[in-house]
Amino acid sequence: MLLLDKAPLGRYKACSGAVSPKIGQWFDFDLTPAVDRSLRQIRYTWKLGDEICSEIKTTDPIWVLKREVFDRFLVQQAEARGAEVKAETPVTGVEWAGDRWQVCTPGGSFESQYLVAADGANGPTAGWLGFKPHKTRPAATLEIATDHPVDENCALNFEFGLVRNACLWSVPQRQGYSLGAVLFLGKNSQDLQPGLAAYAAGLGLGHYPQTFHAQPLQLWNGDRPLHRERALVVGEAAALVDPLSIEGDPPRHF
Ligand SMILES: Cc1cc2nc3c(=O)[nH]c(=O)nc-3n(C[C@H](O)[C@H](O)[C@H](O)COP(=O)(O)OP(=O)(O)OC[C@H]3O[C@@H](n4cnc5c(N)ncnc54)[C@H](O)[C@@H]3O)c2cc1C
Repeated sequence: MLLLDKAPLGRYKACSGAVSPKIGQWFDFDLTPAVDRSLRQIRYTWKLGDEICSEIKTTDPIWVLKREVFDRFLVQQAEARGAEVKAETPVTGVEWAGDRWQVCTPGGSFESQYLVAADGANGPTAGWLGFKPHKTRPAATLEIATDHPVDENCALNFEFGLVRNACLWSVPQRQGYSLGAVLFLGKNSQDLQPGLAAYAAGLGLGHYPQTFHAQPLQLWNGDRPLHRERALVVGEAAALVDPLSIEGDPPRHF
């Protein structure tokens, strides 16, 4: 198996990293060394008030991952099972040669029996394979670094109403928070940064250092073909992101 990525390994990805531990059942190795923390409390607010809190009483809490850690861990596991990894290697084209795929990169081309396209919301491979483009929605994260560990009993927060047509959330990590926003409706040009900054201030986090990252998102919007001649589109390139929870991790390694 050959894994090509145009980015360096362990790159930052705008993603709050909240996932169900049920993803563990799809892997033949333990994922917990790459889990940052677990959460059981969920808090919903409308315009920062009207709060509703609930506790997850099932055996499974919510896992919080840091993508640069988690993605590197998955790649190391793949390497340990014999995968060859070429980072900083952009794919510039793919071609079906009748019985195999030819994958072009600036450093030369590779041949393969099967092709899995996992190049994200902006990746070109789904288009090269002839699949219709998905509509992307504006989304963003505001990463907040605190100077102390975050309280063990904190909650995963969802906020509605503060930014029109958007869902906002705050995912506590062991040290810091990943705030996020996605615009479900309305004009795609809306800037999410002021709304996220207002949310951070509303949560009492406005004085900590903040880093904003905009990243368009492809939300699942109904079934559609995702394969042709031994090629499969997965992950966000296939819009496999839950439109309600924004969960899409970690599809590309299935
Ligand atoms: C703001 C935001 C918050 C989110 N929060 C959550 C969350 O809390 N929980 C959750 O489960 N999901 C979340 N998601 C969704 C999740 O991030 C995605 O579903 C997930 O990253 C998709 O993984 P992927 O491997 O398909 O794509 P990506 O993680 O985008 O990876 C695609 C890779 O393809 C590479 N690539 C692109 N083009 C090429 C090329 N031409 N050649 C070679 N390589 C290429 C890129 O460098 C990149 O490394 C969030 C998304 C956003 C935008």
